[in-house]
Parts: sequence; structure tokens; C-alpha cells
Amino acid sequence: MNNREFISECENKLKDKFSYVDDIAYFNQQKVLNAFSEQRIALRHFGSTTGYGYDDEGRDCLGKLYAQVFGAESGIVSPHIVSGTHALTVALFGLLRPNDTLLCISGMPYDTLRGVIFGENNGSLKDFGIDFDYCDLSDGEFDCESINSKLDDKVKVVYIQRSRGYELRDALSCKQIGDICKFIRSRGFNGCIFVDNCYGEFVEKYEPTDFGADIIVGSLIKNAGGGLAPNGGYICGKSEYIDLIGRRLTAPSIGLEVGSYSGGYQSFYQGLFMAPHTVAQAVKSSLLIGQAMSELGFKNYPSIEKTPYDITRAIEFGNKDKMLDFIREVQYASPIDSYVTCEPWDMPGYDDKIIMAAGTFVSGSSIELSADGPVKPPYIAYFQGGLTYEHGKYALERILNKLIK
Ligand SMILES: *Cc1c(COP(=O)(O)O)cnc(C)c1O
Repeated sequence: MNNREFISECENKLKDKFSYVDDIAYFNQQKVLNAFSEQRIALRHFGSTTGYGYDDEGRDCLGKLYAQVFGAESGIVSPHIVSGTHALTVALFGLLRPNDTLLCISGMPYDTLRGVIFGENNGSLKDFGIDFDYCDLSDGEFDCESINSKLDDKVKVVYIQRSRGYELRDALSCKQIGDICKFIRSRGFNGCIFVDNCYGEFVEKYEPTDFGADIIVGSLIKNAGGGLAPNGGYICGKSEYIDLIGRRLTAPSIGLEVGSYSGGYQSFYQGLFMAPHTVAQAVKSSLLIGQAMSELGFKNYPSIEKTPYDITRAIEFGNKDKMLDFIREVQYASPIDSYVTCEPWDMPGYDDKIIMAAGTFVSGSSIELSADGPVKPPYIAYFQGGLTYEHGKYALERILNKLIK
């Protein structure tokens, strides 16, 4: 059997899983179109604005549109948010005050958040007198006993990271998040339940805000931007919290009344329209790579039997050269910079050297086909994205041709 036949065989085995993914995409596409209709989105919302941007309808309606799609009261969607980390930072600084505690209940947060939360003398939450504590997951589930023991009066924000980050655990489902929200409320917690929603949007039919989370945050160069948004981030949730966060994004006296964008908003609207479909393409690409790598004997997560709850896949190589080969093939299979051979480098915000393949139209976009990981044992590559399933399949064929001659 040659590699192409092997891929066809993997596709045959995935038929049921693919139709499950299509069903979710159709549901989410309807949800997005209903929101466009109810918000009466029109061409004028795409217009560019300058200066203060008072009465910038494109900006305001984009926030309302996202809020409706995500089952939230209000939303901020802004090209002035520079990345997911920045969106999370603005939201945390908006919500927390000196002597409050931030409690993360899904293990240690994503690498770039660590400097935000407990960096030394860099303007972190810690520098402003905000405490941090965390509970590890236990076998991929929330540890209720540990959460209960740490949930004291000082805790003002309970933080949940939906996706795996650079950890070897599976993404959390909205059902798991909903159940833990109920548990936390039953313990009398009346602060903010906050979800880092990166890589999770549109993978399920609902979002954490539909299941009891107060705030969700994500990047527009991942799922929610649909591959078209050129930059930015979103923050959606309860209006009282969005108001506080808006005052941190701009200035305490100004909040969300200002903010112009001379680039115009078309790609942000169109990106949201595309997102349910694009995310389905990425999930199918991830399933195909997962099926193939499992059959070749590489451990990968989520295991191919499980329902995926984000677009990422962690593949364990246990061997540096194989990991680098895999990531380099993703780069060679890319539309942009395909002639580049990736090398590990000291990326800002990360402790280990990171190797990153992202031959993308939007620089660094990881809803586009991309692969990355810290170069250290057991040599795990994190694979995600794919604007089209065909691109994911093409990359896999190249990877197979390299790994098994
Ligand atoms: C990508 C990601 C972020 C934010 O990263 P940026 O590169 O700053 O957009 C935060 N948390 C998780 C889990 C992520 O995957």
C-alpha cells in the first residue's frame, strides 16, 4: 500500500466522525447567520473610521454580533487587541484588584500567561498585589476536592483554560466546564468564572458562556477569525464585567465609547461568517493526521477514539529529529515561505526554545495549517489549523513520504 492508499483508508475509517463534525458546522453556521440577521448587519458596518471613533457602528455591532453567537450579554472585538495573550491580560487586569486572588482550576495556565500572572517586576498581576493559586486537573477532570479547599473569600476570578496549551492533556468539553461552574456556584462563589477559550470556538455546538461561564476570551488569528481576520482578539460575557474590561482596554474614564480602525471591519465580519466551516476543516485535518499517526504507532492526543474539544493535536515523537522533520514538512507544505527550513528559537514569552511552522497568509495565524512545540523530551509537536481539509491532507502526504520512505 502506498501512502496515498493509506490516507484513503484512514479517511474511510473516519466517515462517521466527519459527519459528526459536519453536523456541528451546520448548526454553528445557522447560529452565526441568525445573529447576522438579528443584528441587521449591512455594508455600512464594514466602513473604516479614524480618530476617536465615536459612534463607530462597525466596532459596536461586531461586539454585539460575537456576544449573540457566543450566548453572552456583551462583547469586545477589537483589532487593537494584539493577540490572545493581550486579550487575556486586558480581561484579567480589568477584573482583578489588589489583594484579590486569581484561582486557576485547570492546572498551570498557558506559558505566555505565566509572566502576566506572576512575573517579577514586569508589571504582572503579582506586582500589583494580586495573588495566584492553582489546582491541577486529575486524570483530565477538574479536582473538586482541591478546588473546594482553595475557594476562599479572596478568590475573585476562577480561571479555566479550555485548550491544552503545551501540556499533554486533552481540551475540556463545555459539559465539563458547565458542571464545574455549577459546582463552584454551589460553594457560594459569586465572582467571575473566566475561560481562556483559545482553539475551542465552534468545535462544539455551544461555548462555555452557554454553560455558565461569565467571560470567554480568545484570539482572532485562531478559530473565531475564520482565517480572514488580520489580527485582534475578543472578550465576551456579562455586561458588568465587559464594562470593567473595556475601561482597562482604553481608559477608566472612556471605556468602549472610543476606538477607530482605518482598515475597516469587513474581514472581521466575513471571518466570523466563515469560522464554523473553517473550524470544521481544521478539526477534520486534525482527525486525519491523528488517525494516520496512531496507525503508524505514534501516541497522539486526543486519542482517535475520543471526541475532539479543540482544534489542536499533540503528537509524541520521543525523538528530536522526527519531531523536527514533522514540523518542517508542515512548513514545506505551506502556501507562504514554503522554501524555509524551520529552526528552534527563543520566542518571546516562552521558557524553552520553540520551533514553529506557520507558512500562513496572516502572520503566525494558527487557524491556518501550522505546527509547533517546545524542543525538549519527549518531543511533542502540536499540530493545528487548516483553512481547507485538502491542505491538511496534502501536508499529511508529505509527512508520510518523509517519515516512512
Ligand atoms: C494561543 C493560546 C493563547 C494566546 O496566545 P497568543 O499567541 O498570544 O494569541 C492562550 N491560551 C491558549 C491555551 C492558547 O492556545
